[in-house]
Amino acid sequence: MSTISNSTYEAVIGLEVHAQLLTNSKAFAAVSTQYGGEPNSQVTPLCLGHPGTLPVLNENLVRYIIKMGLATGCKVAEKSIFARKNYFYPDLPKGYQISQFDTPICYEGKIDIELEEYDKTIGVTRIHMEEDAGKSIHDQDPYHTLVDLNRAGTPLIEIVSEPDMRTPQEAYEYLTKIKQIVQYLEICDGNMEEGSLRCDANVSIRPRGQKELGTRTELKNMNSFRNVERAIQFEIERQIELVESGGEVVQQTLLWDANKLETRQMRTKEEAHDYRYFPEPDLPPVLVTKELLEDIKSELPELPNVRLKRFIDKLGLKEEDAIVLTESRYLADYYENALKLLDEPKAVANIILSEVLRVLNEESISITDFTITVERLTGLVSLKLNDKINSSAMQDIFNEMLKNESSAEELAEKMNLVQVSDSGFIEPIIEDVIENNPDEVKKYKGGKKALIGFFIGQVMKQSQGKANPQQVRELVTEKLENV
Ligand code: ADP
Ligand code: MG
Repeated sequence: MSTISNSTYEAVIGLEVHAQLLTNSKAFAAVSTQYGGEPNSQVTPLCLGHPGTLPVLNENLVRYIIKMGLATGCKVAEKSIFARKNYFYPDLPKGYQISQFDTPICYEGKIDIELEEYDKTIGVTRIHMEEDAGKSIHDQDPYHTLVDLNRAGTPLIEIVSEPDMRTPQEAYEYLTKIKQIVQYLEICDGNMEEGSLRCDANVSIRPRGQKELGTRTELKNMNSFRNVERAIQFEIERQIELVESGGEVVQQTLLWDANKLETRQMRTKEEAHDYRYFPEPDLPPVLVTKELLEDIKSELPELPNVRLKRFIDKLGLKEEDAIVLTESRYLADYYENALKLLDEPKAVANIILSEVLRVLNEESISITDFTITVERLTGLVSLKLNDKINSSAMQDIFNEMLKNESSAEELAEKMNLVQVSDSGFIEPIIEDVIENNPDEVKKYKGGKKALIGFFIGQVMKQSQGKANPQQVRELVTEKLENV
């Protein structure tokens, strides 16, 4: 099979990403967008396409999209208009979707991505507002397809990239960045598996060095970041193979099959004119005043790139650690909340990067569902920093904290792990160990210095982990000198 490292061809990729906004109500109707309600309980006559109903624009939709536009360096149009995109679908009772067509509210932005070996900037062509359709449910009734219109009219933004990506990895990184930005802005939860972030990938190939773009196919139905990467990889290889065997790429929409790991045809690609776009007559143009823009700017949180830089420059973290800690806004918040209680950036980062992330991965949960509060976590780190416990005790206490709500201090006492640095406690143990291991002592004296580890291990064991290992090392060395 041909691969993308095929030097004759290069791939060209452009992504269209839909993000479902976290507004409380729908795009054009005052009804809840809360997920998981009884089917068809969150609908108004407007969502049902009843005659005589009129849309009213949700101001938060405008504020949220402008946040996204500003965060991605877009220009914000002073005046933009909504358009009707006409098509029939059973879960679209109106027979059209309100969207934006030739005047998107945000345009000409960029998103920086970092790959292992290089950094790159991907152009953002436009970001526009639109509404979601409802949901057809095919698997609940043996004879009928059911329709749930709770989602109909939920606000979406669509972020369209320039055809600037060249590899599936770049597409993966670009998507990851979008997820990170929408989460930082708190405008979308960024969950691809649950469909609040959706991505269509446009893929073409061209002979290396050629300027004109090749014919593209559009991939849909990829519900995870990995699937986006895999589907694009598959499609590039399919196109190269096709062209090399004398065929031609046909412009079409393909569905990714995550089980078979292949794409299959869905339909020939529709063109813009098929949708008979025209300006939405029931909504006035959206006017963005300078005041509104300033107001939204002042609400913007610190963006991930800025936070990353601050973690490196001000907190003194290593770049790779800072990248992991800022990847999710919530993890970075957890870290900084912990620092408010204990100003030890490195020690706090260490336990999060090792122990906390290990648990999040093992249990596939997010930091917002993690049960150890920053108060309890910093309590644990303080014990270690103050030499009250040693490293292995820290780990044991951490694991115990996952199971209950006790503080680190309480557990250290209860588990009998408070470190004893009192030589009156340790010395008799050392003497005992030396007395009971004459052979090892002889070998040690004969030059086998590596045995020091054996003696320390024995003392730590007899002290039940309570001795201070550093102090044990010093005292054991000293005692052995004088035997
Ligand atoms: P639509 O798919 O709705 O017709 P557009 O024409 O705006 O929308 O293009 C959608 C996406 O396809 C954009 O992200 C764009 O960068 C990308 N794209 C356009 N032409 C190509 C091409 N030849 N190869 C790869 N991607 C392309
Ligand atoms: Mg498209």
